[in-house]
Amino acid sequence: MAQRKSHKKNSGNRIKKHVYTQIARLTFNHGRFPAHLNKIKVLEDDRCTYCKKERGDTNHIIFGCEVHKDKIDILLKDLQTMQLALPVNVNYVLAQDQKDINCRLYRHLASCSIIV
Ligand SMILES: [Zn+2]
Repeated sequence: MAQRKSHKKNSGNRIKKHVYTQIARLTFNHGRFPAHLNKIKVLEDDRCTYCKKERGDTNHIIFGCEVHKDKIDILLKDLQTMQLALPVNVNYVLAQDQKDINCRLYRHLASCSIIV
């Protein structure tokens, strides 16, 4: 008798869709980052929401913000393990178009409570 795997499958698909949505927003630079929100006149201040020092663009928030330094260091080590050459930026990482790398980037966003 075949076991039902619908719960597992649906759960996996939901996570996959969420990862895809976040990666698509990054790819099209439609993330809810201060620099972008300032550009479309939704936010007056384009500085990073976390450190309030640097311009809050995608690369700063994901790879450069001092507030998330420890988590960024772990992310960079993981990306090196995945054969990415450092230094990296968001466009370079996304250009790899690899599921494991995109999932790792998504986990980084989630661990830093970054909503894009
Ligand atoms: Zn910052």
